[in-house]
Amino acid sequence: MKPATKFIHAGAEPDPSTGAIMTPIYQTSTYVQEAPGKNKGFEYARSQNPTRKALEEALAAIENGKYGLAFSSGVAATDAVLKLLSPGDEVLTGNDLYGGTYRLFTKIYEKFGIRFRYVDMTDNAAIEAAITDQTKLIWTETPTNPLMNITDIGAVTAMAQKRQVLVCVDNTFASPYLQNPLDFGADIVMHSSTKYLGGHSDVIQGALVMNDPALREQLYFIQKSCGAVPGPMDCFLVLRGIKTLHVRMQRHCENGEKIAQFLRQHPGVGKVYWCGFEDQPGYAVAKKQMRGFGGMMSFTLKDDSVETAMKVLSSTKIFSLAESLGGVESLINHPASMTHASIPREERIKNGLSDSLIRLSVGIEDLEDLVLDLEQAIGK
Ligand SMILES: *Cc1c(COP(=O)(O)O)cnc(C)c1O
Repeated sequence: MKPATKFIHAGAEPDPSTGAIMTPIYQTSTYVQEAPGKNKGFEYARSQNPTRKALEEALAAIENGKYGLAFSSGVAATDAVLKLLSPGDEVLTGNDLYGGTYRLFTKIYEKFGIRFRYVDMTDNAAIEAAITDQTKLIWTETPTNPLMNITDIGAVTAMAQKRQVLVCVDNTFASPYLQNPLDFGADIVMHSSTKYLGGHSDVIQGALVMNDPALREQLYFIQKSCGAVPGPMDCFLVLRGIKTLHVRMQRHCENGEKIAQFLRQHPGVGKVYWCGFEDQPGYAVAKKQMRGFGGMMSFTLKDDSVETAMKVLSSTKIFSLAESLGGVESLINHPASMTHASIPREERIKNGLSDSLIRLSVGIEDLEDLVLDLEQAIGK
């Protein structure tokens, strides 16, 4: 099935009881059984729910995977993957991570005896050198949030498979329309469905997709045992979001490219981080594993002071100042004080995330309005 057809039809079967074309919101906690142990495949809604099941099938289909699992948030999905591990195990990960992932690693899992090693995930030799006998999981984001660094998924999975290390890719920034990590050998794909999958800034949700049935069983066991499941209404919203993912992403890519070029030639702008520039270090790898470059980017100002950045951040009228990304509306964000405030300042600066960095989630509005808005805000 071609992508657009798949995004619209994945997981969508007419409702068996009425023929409803849209999956109903099965707002129920339990299911009546015919006799003890005799049921229609649904026993209790933490374990199974038909709306969630339809969504999980859609998630699997759009990531070219066999199994999908939906969670109550992106971090709950990440949390489930970490629960595959035992004390003493090591996770190899990037030094440029979503702030909430870093917080989960350092503030929650370190105290349970899981060790985290941070390497430059754009450097294959450094990754290979950092794998030890204790390494059980490689966790990577590509492109990264907010510096748009690129990890070579195929190269990392090749070195991990030799050592029987699991690879999980946070594919939130690219979305399944632009990148499918399982096709490059990753074991698990993780999403914050809150972002592009939902697409309308109206739901918090997470997802995991995988191919291996044993891994699916382990993660399903964690999902139902720990209980971080999304409600049926939220599953419905993400299912609906997925149906327009391809058209939204096409416009995010078009607007993103034009805004990145506009910023790059602007005399008031310093460095622009966007993975579609041919002279960007990760470009060749991005080109190989992505179908487009999306609407996420970051930039600094020529006058690299926090005060000037703050002025720009509070002067936009169409770009709303907010955390999150991937919705139809454009957002502007200050990673140092907002999305990445949980990373210690020295760590941030060391990894290139300066106090004046501004991140954009370019939406799908008319390009002219977005350009004019940035023009007036940077011009001030
Ligand atoms: C938002 C985000 C998360 C966390 O997801 P939530 O849905 O907010 O829990 C994880 N990774 C990335 C890259 C994100 O942008």
